[in-house]
Amino acid sequence: MGTKEKKTKIDIYKAWCKACGICVAFCPAEVLARDEAGYPYVKFPEKCINCGWCELRCPDFAITVYKKDKGLKEIDEEQKK
Ligand code: SF4
Ligand code: SF4
Repeated sequence: MGTKEKKTKIDIYKAWCKACGICVAFCPAEVLARDEAGYPYVKFPEKCINCGWCELRCPDFAITVYKKDKGLKEIDEEQKK
């Protein structure tokens, strides 16, 4: 827990994902990419700007964005206390 910078964490819940590619298409920072089967994966996590669009746009609630600021889910309860 030595890191000072709060990082984004993006969870893709594959069981719900239908590989539609919407999240990849909507990500403005090109964080996400698709694997050979069309499923999204986090290619450049450091580029994520925490906009939350991927989560909002996913029709299957298969993607969750965690961040420190309000509005999205807290990344690490421990760190903020
Ligand atoms: S939160 Fe925004 S920048 Fe980050 S992966 Fe999702 S759409 Fe891309
Ligand atoms: S928008 Fe949702 S269902 Fe579609 S590829 Fe992304 S995570 Fe999977």
